[in-house]
Amino acid sequence: MNIHEYQGKSILKSFGVAIQEGIVADTPQEAVAAAKKLTEDTGTEWYVVKAQIHAGGRGKGTVTETDSRGVVLAKGIDKVEGIAKAILGGHLVTAQTSDTGKQVNKVLVAQDVYYPGASEPEEYYMSVLLDRSSGKHIIMYSPEGGMNIEEVAEQTPHLIFKEEIDAMLGLQGFQTRRIAFNLGLSGQAFKQMNKFVHALYAAFIGCDASMFEINPVLKTSDDNIIAVDAKVTLDDNALYRHKAYAEMRDKTEEDQTEVEADEAGLNYVKLDGNVGCMVNGAGLAMATMDIIKLSGGEPANFLDVGGTADAARVEKAFRIILKDKAVKAILVNIFGGIVRCDRVAQGIVDAYNNIGELPVPLIVRLQGTNAEEAKQLIDDSGLKVHSVILLQEAADKVAEVLA
Ligand code: GDP
Ligand code: MN
Repeated sequence: MNIHEYQGKSILKSFGVAIQEGIVADTPQEAVAAAKKLTEDTGTEWYVVKAQIHAGGRGKGTVTETDSRGVVLAKGIDKVEGIAKAILGGHLVTAQTSDTGKQVNKVLVAQDVYYPGASEPEEYYMSVLLDRSSGKHIIMYSPEGGMNIEEVAEQTPHLIFKEEIDAMLGLQGFQTRRIAFNLGLSGQAFKQMNKFVHALYAAFIGCDASMFEINPVLKTSDDNIIAVDAKVTLDDNALYRHKAYAEMRDKTEEDQTEVEADEAGLNYVKLDGNVGCMVNGAGLAMATMDIIKLSGGEPANFLDVGGTADAARVEKAFRIILKDKAVKAILVNIFGGIVRCDRVAQGIVDAYNNIGELPVPLIVRLQGTNAEEAKQLIDDSGLKVHSVILLQEAADKVAEVLA
C-alpha cells in the first residue's frame, strides 16, 4: 500500500527520523493556519507548499490551468493562501502520472529547509528495500540526490552505492559509517547521518515497510540531516498488525475498478490490452495472459475469481472487466478442480442472462471435473458464447474474434 508523503513522514518521525516538519491542509485557509502553527513550532517564516499525490516528480510537475508546480516555495505567510489555492483541486501532471494527472486534495505546508548559510545545502538519495536476488534488505544511496535516480543509474552508475543488511545481525555501526563516508560527510554531518540511517532502518523494520525512498535526504547548511521527501510503501500482508497505518489508505489515489474488485473479493489488476480474462488461480491467470499474447492479443487485465466461481461472482467479474472500454473480447479460462465445471457454466449462463447481451464476444474454456457437461450446458443455453475445451482452441478463437 502506498501512502502520502505527509503520512510517510509522520511514520518516520515516530521512529526518531529527522524530517522536514510540515502540517497537512485540505483548504487554502487551513494552509494558512498550518503555516502559522509551523512558525510557532519551528520559527520558520518561509514555507514550501507540496501537493500530496501518490506520485513523485512533483517538483517538476505542472498544475494544469494555473501553471504552477506541485512543490512551491512561499517566501512569507502572505503567499501561502494563493499558492495553496492554485494547487488544491487542480490536476497535477508529473512524469510519474498519466497525461490527465492526479487531482490534488491535500497540500503539505512544510518549513523551508534550504536556508542559505556558510555552506550550501546538499541533497542525497536514499532508499531501503528488499533485494530479491540476494534475499536481503539493502540501503541504496547516492550523493546525487534530488533528481531522477534512474538517470543517475544510467549516466553515473558508480555514484550509486548499496549496503546489504544481514537480517540476523541488523544494521551495523560500520555500515552507517561507510554510508556517511561515501556521501562525503565529516564532523557533525557525519554523526547526524549515522543517526539518521539507524533511525531510518529501524522505521523500515518497525512499520513493516516494503519500500522507503527518501529523495532528497538533505544536509542543511548547519549540518543537520533530514528527510525532505518520503515515499513509503507498506506491506499489505502486515497491515493487520498496524491498524493506524491501515487507515492511511487513500482509495481516491487507486484505480477505482481495482478498489471495487477488491471490495468484492476479486483479485483484479488492470492492464493496457484488449482481451479481458476471467480465470481461477493466479498461475493459470498468468498462463492465460501468456497465451493471449501468443495469439496476438494483449491482456486487458489480470483477474483471479478464486475458488467459488458462482453466478454472483462471475457476474461481478464480467461487470468489472466490461468497465474497461478497451476490452474487445473476454476469455474465461477456469479449471474445475474443487469447483465443478458444470456449476461454473451455470454461473456464466446466469450471469450472462442477468447482464443481458455482452457487448463483446465471449470465449469460454472450462476444463476439469464435468467439463463435458459444462460445454453441453453452455452450447444448449442458446447464448452467443464460443465454448472450447483446449487452451489452444481458446487462443485461436481469441485471435479470430479480434481479427
Ligand atoms: P518530488 O519532486 O515529488 O520528489 O518532491 P520532493 O519533495 O522531492 O521535492 C522536489 C524538490 O523540491 C526537492 O528536490 C527540492 O529541490 C525542492 N524542495 C523541497 N523542499 C524544499 C524546501 O524546503 N525549500 C526549497 N527551496 N526547495 C525545496
Ligand atoms: Mn522527491
